[in-house]
Amino acid sequence: MLEKFKNEPLIDFTKQENIDKMEEAFKKLDVEKGKEYPLIIGGEKIYTDEKITSYNPCNFKEIIGIVSKGNEELADKSMCSALEAFEMWKNVCPKERANYLFKAAAIMRRKKFDFSALLVEEAGKTWIEADADVAEAIDFLEYYGRQMLKFAKGMDVGSFPGEINECYYIPMGVGIVIAPWNFPLAILTGMTAASIVTGNTVVIKPSSSTPVVAAKFMEIWDEIKLPDGVINYLPGPGESVGNYLVSHPKTRFINFTGSKDVGLNISKMASDIKDGQKCIKRVIAEMGGKDTIIVDNEADLDAAAEGIVASAFGFQGQKCSACSRAIIVEDIYDEMIDKIVEKTKKLKIGPTRKFDTNFGAVIDENAYEKILTYIEIGRNEGKICFGGNKCGESGYFIEPTIIVDVSPDARISQEEIFGPVLSVIKVDNFDCALNIANDTDYGLTGAVYSNNRQKLEKAKREFHVGNLYLNRKCTGALVGVQPFGGFKLSGTCSKAGGEDYLLLFMEIKSVAERL
Ligand code: GLU
Repeated sequence: MLEKFKNEPLIDFTKQENIDKMEEAFKKLDVEKGKEYPLIIGGEKIYTDEKITSYNPCNFKEIIGIVSKGNEELADKSMCSALEAFEMWKNVCPKERANYLFKAAAIMRRKKFDFSALLVEEAGKTWIEADADVAEAIDFLEYYGRQMLKFAKGMDVGSFPGEINECYYIPMGVGIVIAPWNFPLAILTGMTAASIVTGNTVVIKPSSSTPVVAAKFMEIWDEIKLPDGVINYLPGPGESVGNYLVSHPKTRFINFTGSKDVGLNISKMASDIKDGQKCIKRVIAEMGGKDTIIVDNEADLDAAAEGIVASAFGFQGQKCSACSRAIIVEDIYDEMIDKIVEKTKKLKIGPTRKFDTNFGAVIDENAYEKILTYIEIGRNEGKICFGGNKCGESGYFIEPTIIVDVSPDARISQEEIFGPVLSVIKVDNFDCALNIANDTDYGLTGAVYSNNRQKLEKAKREFHVGNLYLNRKCTGALVGVQPFGGFKLSGTCSKAGGEDYLLLFMEIKSVAERL
């Protein structure tokens, strides 16, 4: 009998034994640094001449691993392999498919510290953020496995005299999983697990910034002997590999997490019907955010400051759920800024391999340049009251930056920066705050700090975001508890970690038999 789903507990790093395990995992990883990883197509390990080199963002002289690089020809080979495997995999019963997920979860749990150490070094996560990433990945495997068992029973339908009527869920075909670097394990695992447990096969294209995490993820499926071709691993450039796969006439769905621009482009490409294409492609996209925390004058200001700092600067602000705008009612504006600054000052910046660091480097040079450009834009659009500088020599470090007195229509109030930059906006009252909060292209997360029941109820009705949080931070959605995904240009309103997510990966067949 399968245990009821429960979220994976987080590691308690106040315990010395866990610190020791993590240090050991780092040592193991040091030995593996610079190792080469192949592409995996139909179970075949392929080493290409062209490579992607993955560096440690906190120390860009350090190579984490070297990964073979896909191209259009290999994308085609991956597609053929996934198509072939689909003919077999679609007939594997849901229970067996779910069991592969449970086995993968067990291995991931055993290798928790190894994955966390890798996430620290390849993505620049703190220990705590890295552990949360691994825990979420395990949650996705456990949760979607169980969800599939429910869907295996089919859909309830009514009866009709003299007939047997039934309705069941069937797989769709080959999906393309295009995963981000900011949750390189959790989101990759979630998107892949949902795709395959429903009977589809996939080509996964991890981000070129975190391909080693994805290579290690592939080792798990190899260890549990997932049939060849069910998951094909093809890192490579978006413009060639990604576009080729998205445009392929046999692609049935695309599961994407990343920026708004790339997501919209995928949506456009996917809607262009190619010669020989027999289906309308489905796009499941989770894109950006310009997420707001509103602080009302009737709020616990210390709790609000804590929530803002955690949401704005956790993982250097590189979450699509991150708070990039604080909208504060004028009576408490100055006091709140002091509190936010005071808490931000306490963040310890540096290489995240050290446990007491709570603020690392941003992912790569592109991100670094883009964020610094936005900080320059912000200098003219408001007043930098904290941070605003790059720091450190050998990593992509940027100080957590707070820009106050920003107008709601400034670029830094409207455009996604995806870094540690918080814009602070002053408003007359709660209603104005709500209007401004809703006035962006995005609708992913948001939070309200208030002790006024009516205002909270109004936010529930009118704050148009997929994930609304009241009196708590706006990051860290839990699988099965806070299904995650946004409105407007934040995505296709899919809810990762929610009960209906798997429906996006299946078709429904209704069968009536006259007796
Ligand atoms: N699910 C994550 C959270 O709730 C964010 C995911 C993302 O940044 O893509 O914080």
